Amino acid sequence: MKTVKRVYTFGDKRAEGKADMKNLLGGKGANLAEMNLIGVPVPPGLTITTEVCTEYNQLGKEKVIEVLLEEVRDGIRNMENIMGAKFCDSQNPLLLSVRSGARASMPGMMDTILNLGLNDESVEGIARKSGNERFAWDSYRRFVQMYGDVVLGMKPVSKEDHDPFEEIIDQMKEEKGVQLDTELTTDDLKELVRRFKSAVKNSTGRDFPADPWEQLWGSVVAVFESWNNERAHLYRRLNNIPDEWGTAVNVQAMVFGNMGATSGTGVCFTRDSATGENILTGEYLMNAQGEDVVAGIRTPQQISIEQSQRWAKLAQVSEEERSSKFPSLEEVMPAAYQELVNILNKLEDHYKDMQDIEFTIQEGKLWMLQTRNGKRTGASMLRIAMDFHREGRLTEQEVLRRMDASKLDELLHPVFDKTALTQAKVITKGLPASPGAATGQIVFFADDADEWSKDNTKTILVRVETSPEDLKGMNAAEGILTARGGMTSHAAVVARGMGKCCVSGAGGIIINYKERTMTAGDKVYREGDWISLNGSSGEVLEGKVATVTPEMSGDFALLMDMAAKHTRMSVRTNADTPHDSRVAREFGAKGIGLCRTEHMFFEGNRIVAMREMILASDEAGRRVALDKLLPMQREDFEGIFEAMNGYPVTVRLLDPPLHEFVPHDDASQKELSDATGISVEVIKQKVHDLHEQNPMLGHRGCRLGNTYPEISEMQARAIIEAALNCKKKGIKAVPEIMIPLAGTLKELKMQEEIVRGTIAKVFAEYNDTVDYLFGTMIEVPRAALTADLIAESAEFFSFGTNDLTQMTFGYSRDDIGKFLGIYLDKNILKQDPFQVLDREGVGQLVKMGVEKGRQTKPNLKIGICGEHGGEPSSVEFCHMVGMDYVSCSPFRVPIARVAAAQAAINHPVPEKKN
Ligand code: PEP
Ligand code: MG
Repeated sequence: MKTVKRVYTFGDKRAEGKADMKNLLGGKGANLAEMNLIGVPVPPGLTITTEVCTEYNQLGKEKVIEVLLEEVRDGIRNMENIMGAKFCDSQNPLLLSVRSGARASMPGMMDTILNLGLNDESVEGIARKSGNERFAWDSYRRFVQMYGDVVLGMKPVSKEDHDPFEEIIDQMKEEKGVQLDTELTTDDLKELVRRFKSAVKNSTGRDFPADPWEQLWGSVVAVFESWNNERAHLYRRLNNIPDEWGTAVNVQAMVFGNMGATSGTGVCFTRDSATGENILTGEYLMNAQGEDVVAGIRTPQQISIEQSQRWAKLAQVSEEERSSKFPSLEEVMPAAYQELVNILNKLEDHYKDMQDIEFTIQEGKLWMLQTRNGKRTGASMLRIAMDFHREGRLTEQEVLRRMDASKLDELLHPVFDKTALTQAKVITKGLPASPGAATGQIVFFADDADEWSKDNTKTILVRVETSPEDLKGMNAAEGILTARGGMTSHAAVVARGMGKCCVSGAGGIIINYKERTMTAGDKVYREGDWISLNGSSGEVLEGKVATVTPEMSGDFALLMDMAAKHTRMSVRTNADTPHDSRVAREFGAKGIGLCRTEHMFFEGNRIVAMREMILASDEAGRRVALDKLLPMQREDFEGIFEAMNGYPVTVRLLDPPLHEFVPHDDASQKELSDATGISVEVIKQKVHDLHEQNPMLGHRGCRLGNTYPEISEMQARAIIEAALNCKKKGIKAVPEIMIPLAGTLKELKMQEEIVRGTIAKVFAEYNDTVDYLFGTMIEVPRAALTADLIAESAEFFSFGTNDLTQMTFGYSRDDIGKFLGIYLDKNILKQDPFQVLDREGVGQLVKMGVEKGRQTKPNLKIGICGEHGGEPSSVEFCHMVGMDYVSCSPFRVPIARVAAAQAAINHPVPEKKN
C-alpha cells in the first residue's frame, strides 16, 4: 500500500523538503527546508503538509491525529536529537513553536503559538537549566496567554474591550505600580500565570492542559482552524488565494529571544520595502519574543546604524538619546549584526529577490526563523526589480515576470501638490510606513471605515495600533495612521502589501477610543474631521490637501520600454474624448479600441438635439435633429483622430437603449417641453413608450441602427467626414467603424450596407477617400457561436466581454452587487466575472469566436474592449487565444502593457503571419 507522506523534517543542514515545494509545505515550510540546505542556521523542526489541512476538514480532529501520530513522533525525535532535550521531560524539556504557513504568504493572518510544552513542572526545569527563573516564567505566562487566545478562543468581547489577558497584566502592573512588562518580578510572573489559568478555568470550565501532547494537538488543530477564520478568509478574497489550498503547520524547536541582555528578536527586509532603496530595513528588541516587535507594544529599535540615524531624524530624537536609549543592533551586538548581514546577502543572492526575514538571537547565537520574498509597494517592486537588473541578476524577461501588474496602479495615483503641501498645517509626524497621499475623514474603528466606505465616504483609519482583525477596515480606508508601531508593525506591513498610504508610530497623538478623539498638542480632532497623510514623509496634515498626477519617468519608462519589446499584443484604450485619448497616448496606448459615441450626446445642447431626435414622430423629424448632431459629432471625432494621429480609432455606433437619454422627472420634462415646443403630455407618453422591462436586452445596439437607419447614416458620415477633414490638415486618421450587439449575420449585413453606402456618398462628395475598416463587437453569445458567418461581413472583431459575461451567466451587469458578495463568501464564484474574465465559460465563447472568425478570414483583426481588457489575468487569456490587442481605460494601459508582455513571455506562440 502506498503510504502518504504527511510530515517533512528539517534541521542541522538537512531537510526532506526544498524551496520549490511551496504547494505542499507552504511558503514558510519550504523556505525553512531550503535555508537548511544552503547552510543557514535554523532551529530544527517539522512541517505538516497543506494536504493534511484539507484532510482535517474532511476527517476531523481525532482521525487526523491518528494518521499523523507516528510521523510527528519521528519528527520530534529528530528535534530532540539535534537539540539535546526531550519533549515532555520536566528536567530538560524541548519546547516548541507552532506556526501556520500557506502557499502564499498571509502575514499575521493566522495564528502562532510559542513556548509549547511548558507546565508547572517543566517551567522549573527550564528555570534550572537556563539559570534564569524570570525567563522561564516569562515564557510560561506568554504560552498560557497565547494558547488561551488562539486555541481556547479567549478574545475581547467587543471592539472597545481589551484582551482578557492584557487586562489581567494591566491590573497587575497597576497593583505593583510599574509601567513595563519587563519591570514585573519573577514572583509577579508566577502570580500572572496563576491568574491566567484561573481565567481559563472560569471561561472554559476546564483546567489549562498540562500535557505537552495535548497542547501540541490543540495547537496543530487551531492552525488548521485558523485557515477558516474570518480575517484569513477576507485576506484570501482580497488577494485571490483559493480556499482549497489549505495551510501547512510548522512545528519547530524553540529558540529564545527573551533570555536576557544578550538575547533578542527582530524582523527585517533586505531592502526598503516602501521605496525599494537598497538599504537594510528592520527592527529588533532585546530580551523579547517574536510578537513583541510587530505588535507595537514596545518601541522597536533599528538594525543598522544608518537606518537608526534616519529613524531618529524622522522621530525627532537626538543622537544622544538615540544612541543611549534606542541603539541599533549594529552597535549593541556587532558580531551578531555582521553575521545577520552575511546571511541576508546569502539569502538575497539565493532567491534573487528582496527577502523579509525573522530572526532570534539566543545568548549571542543567531537563528533564522523565516525568509520569504518581501511584500512591497508598487514603487519598491519596480525599483528592486530594476536594481537587480542593473546588478545583472535579472534579465528583462525576469523583470517583467516579477511585476504584479495591478500594483503599477499605485504609481499612477495622485501625489500631493507641492504648493498645497507647503501651505498645509502639519499636525504631527510619524514614520513614512507606506508611501502615497491620502485624504479622508477620521474614523477610529475598522468596521466604521468599512461601513462609511459603502456610501463612498473617504476615511483615514486612526488606531493606536492595528491587528489582523482590522484588515477589512484598512482595505476600505484611504489611509492608515497609527500612534504606535514601527516600520515593520502590522499596519506598516499590511498597508505596503495593499499599496495603501500609511503613517505609523506617530507618538505625538493621543487616541481616546471611548470619546472617539485624537489629540495632537492642544488640539482635539474628532471622528469625521478631515485629515491628510503623506506616506512618503510621515507627515499628518490638517484638512484636505490638493493632489496632482505623478510623472511617469525613470524606471517606469524603462519598464514600459521592456514591455514594448517583449509583447505580442498591442494595447489600446477606451476613450471618448481628446483629453482621455492624450492621457492614454502618454501611457503608450496604440490607438482607441472603443470610443463610445453615446457619451458625446450628453453635453450641453447636444442632449436637446438628441431628445428631439428621439421624440420625433417620423423619419423626417429625426433627420432634422440628426442634422444638428452631425457637426458636433464630426468635431469630436476630429479631436480624437488628432490625438491619435496615425493610430487606429474604433468608433462604435450608438448602443444604449433610448430611454437613457430622455428625462424621467416632471421638472426636466417641463424644461424639455419649453426647449422643443413639444407638449409635456407628448413627452410623457414617449417616455412611457420607451420603457422596457429588460432594457439591456431590449431596443439597443444595432437594433437601433436597423430600426432607425438614419442614426447609423449620420454617425458613419460624421466619422468619415472627420477623417477626410483631418487628412486635409495632414493628420492621418485610421477609422474603424464598429457595430454593437450584433447577434446574426443579417443584422450586421444590414448595418454594413448602410455604413458603406453612406461612406461611398461622402467619398463622392469630397472627391477623396480614406482607408477604413468595418467590424463588429462580439458581445452576444450567438455572435460568438456563429462567428464564422459574422466574419463574412466584419473586417474586425472586438469582444465586448461586459455584455458577453452578462448574457452568458445571465447576471445583470447593473444588479450583480445584490448577490455577488454572498456568492464570493460562499465560494459559488471565485471572482467577480465582470472583473476577471471567466475562462471556463465566457472564455470558451471567446476562444470559439476567435477560431471561427479566423476560419473565414485568417487575418481577421481581433481585440477586446470590455472591462477585462485592463485586468492582468484576462489579458493573459486574450494573448493565449491569439487576439491582436486589448483595450482598456487610460489609467490601466500601463498595467495591460506589462500583463501583455508577461503573457507573451509565459506563453510564447509562433509569430503571426501577416
Ligand atoms: C461590452 O459590452 O463589453 C462593451 C465594451 O460595451 P458596453 O460596456 O458599452 O456595453
Ligand atoms: Mg456592450
